[in-house]
Order: sequence, then C-alpha cells, then structure tokens
Amino acid sequence: MNFTLIERLLILSVFLFGSHCQGQPQRNSNASPQAFYKKRVQQYLLKDESIQDMFAISDSGITLYREVPVVNEKDTKGAKSTGVTKKTPPDKLKKEVEYHLPWKKLDIFKRLVIANPIETYEMYQQQKLPTGAMDVRRPRRFRVQTNNKLPLKGLRVALDPGHMAGSIDMAKKERKFVDITLKNGKRLSFFESKLAWYTCAVLADMLKAKGAEVRLTRKRFDMMALDSTYQQVFDNYKKQQKKAGKTIKDWQKWPTFFKKFRKADFIARADKINQFQPHLTMIVHYNVDGANAPWDKTTVQNHSMAFVSGSFMKNELSKPEHRFNFLRLLLTQDIEQSIDFSVEVLKAIKSKLQVPTLPTQNNQPFIDRACIATSQPGVYARNLSMARKVYGTLCFIEPLYQENAKEILKLAKNDYDYQGTKIPKRVVEVAEAYFEGIMAYLKK
Ligand SMILES: [Zn+2]
Repeated sequence: MNFTLIERLLILSVFLFGSHCQGQPQRNSNASPQAFYKKRVQQYLLKDESIQDMFAISDSGITLYREVPVVNEKDTKGAKSTGVTKKTPPDKLKKEVEYHLPWKKLDIFKRLVIANPIETYEMYQQQKLPTGAMDVRRPRRFRVQTNNKLPLKGLRVALDPGHMAGSIDMAKKERKFVDITLKNGKRLSFFESKLAWYTCAVLADMLKAKGAEVRLTRKRFDMMALDSTYQQVFDNYKKQQKKAGKTIKDWQKWPTFFKKFRKADFIARADKINQFQPHLTMIVHYNVDGANAPWDKTTVQNHSMAFVSGSFMKNELSKPEHRFNFLRLLLTQDIEQSIDFSVEVLKAIKSKLQVPTLPTQNNQPFIDRACIATSQPGVYARNLSMARKVYGTLCFIEPLYQENAKEILKLAKNDYDYQGTKIPKRVVEVAEAYFEGIMAYLKK
C-alpha cells in the first residue's frame, strides 16, 4: 500500500491524537477505568453470574483466568499438564492467570485489537503485551463516494449465508427447514440454507454493481464454509479414520456433524471473514416463531430481530478464544457499531418488507434466556459463535418468521429468475432491504 505524504501525516495524527477515533469506547475522563469497564461488562457482556470469577477488573488492570486441573505433586514428575478435560471434576480445578493487561498498556492494546485483532489474539495466546513498536494503523472509516458511479468502491463486505443443507432431506437432519401442510391440504416445504444463500448472492451482486468488494463464506447453497458438501466432508473423515484403524459407521454421520463439523464450519466461516478484514459483515438467517414449536403449523406472528456479540452465559468463558473475544468486546466499540448497523437494517426491513421489529415485550423464549437487550428495540447481545468470532462491525440478522401464514406462501413460491434458477421473489426483496440498510448505515 502506498500513501502520499498528506495521508502519512493523517495516519500519524490519528495515531497520536486518536482519543476520539471510532472504534474505542468513549470514556469520561473523570471515571476510573475500573468503574467504566465494570459497567460495560454488566451492560453487554455478563449474562450469567457464574462466569464472574473468570475475569477481574482491578486497580492493576484487567485479568483473564483459565482453569487448570489440580495435580498431585507426585504425579507431575516430568509430566506436562494436559489442560482441562471433560473428565476433570470441578473440585479438581484451580484458576490461574491466563492474561493480565495492566492499565498502562490499555491504550496501545485497544488500538492494536481494533487495527489487527488476528495478531492481537496470537499475542494474547503467547501471554505477551503490546509494545510501542507495533503496527497499529487502523483501516480508515469507509465513506460513500457520492459523486462516483461506483459509490461503494473500496468498501469490503462479508456475507455469511447460514447453514449448509443441499436438500430438504439434509435440511431436516440439520433441523433447519419448513415442511407444513396447510388447512387446505397444500404441503409447503423449503429450507433455510438455500434461502440464506440466494439472499447473499443477490445482495452481493447489488453491492458489487456499486463498486464494493464482497466475500461470501460459502461457494454454493449446498456447500459448507469448508468448501465441500457435508457428504464429502464426512466421506473424507471416514477414510482418514479408517487409515487410523477406526471404523466410522453411516449412522454416525449426523451425530458427528453436531459434535464436530458444525463447529469446524463456524471456524472456517469466521476465518474467511476475518482474513478479508471487511468494513461490514452480515450473518444471514431466516427465523421461525420461537413460540410456535414444533413448527408443524403456521403462525400469525412475524417479527424481525438482529443480534450483536456479547451476553456470555454459563461455561462460555471456558476457552482462550472465548476469553480473548470477551476482552476484545470489552475494549472496542464493535458492539456499539454493530448495534448502529443493525438498527438501520431493521428499519429497512420494516419499511421495505413490512415486517415489524420485535417489540420489547415479546413471547420469544430465548430472548430472556440467552440475550441482553440493548438500547435499541429488536437488537440483542447474544453469544452466538459467529457473532463472537467475527471481528468488527456486524449484523446477525433474522428478518422474518418463515412459517408465518403469509411469508410461507411467498417463500415456497419460486417466482423469480436468478441467472436461470428459479428462486422466491421474497428473497430478492429481503436482499434489497439489506442493501438499503447498508447504504443508510454508511451514509450516517
Ligand atoms: Zn439460521
């Protein structure tokens, strides 16, 4: 990357006088950092009190703890601790410091985790502290180029179409489908993986047409982020295990997915996004009415909602990745910026799709159980893997309930031609709403 002298001076001035730059929580100079960050923990991060002893905010700084097994002196001769295993009973665990960030290193750590979270995570894992010599240049905020025929030139957007089923049968195994027989006897079925994928494909075209660079985490609606179908992934796994002398049976296909490959898929999605260093990320899903389980009938309810990171629950600070992201979310404004972005997307959904935002008083069971309400109606902090692992500004969007009596008719209809494939027009409308939301956020 080449910078002119003026740009270099600008970068330097941001570096030197960056107190009000975007990306850092605004701290009143009268408030102590302890008080400020303790409040922030309560506001966005702590859903369950039980995780409270995994971190400390004290006079000396911020400390993250890990749990290690207590081993008898006589067992440790030459043996290295293997860390916590599922077999380790809780009374045989002790806490030790995983990372301590002293207050005097706060500002440089903050700048580094905003500018280069991948490198900061490596540093965290090595228990190192940032030094003054580190490259903390942050990508400048994107501005829409109003007088350009490519107003989004230079913008990077990551799109993550949720799930991975390639057929309704697979979607049933993945438990992400709609299959409902209406009162008139008509049976309607479709699945979320395909809806989400085409939503992202259409949205990507719209963004690219305005000059943006777009990355999707999956290549086709039937592919995982691991760039093959789950059938291929499972077949390879069987072969590998066979070489190691282990036989994997076909019945193990879906238990293995939920135990192993769903997680691997999330990691692959987040890695692709984080490597791309997008200005914005949309994690694209379609919802069902949480109060309509087991979803064998339609619902009259229909609401949109969006999730941002935060709301750590019981056992959700159990791994280094969890604790690093907890620290990142505590120190950056990723949550606030994601809330601002999500608000614009929800507004566009309401005006273009006529789907109202989930009201504060609602009957969706997971809201109370897993979420922390933000200042914005319909936007909730929730510790979803993708929301936690993806760095920067994001919107995890759930635009409507698929089994709503009206939506189900629209989503089951393949009434739009997308490059020779028939897809529901409703999906195109959803993509249009997202495009409007993105533009509104960028222009703010
Ligand atoms: Zn979903």
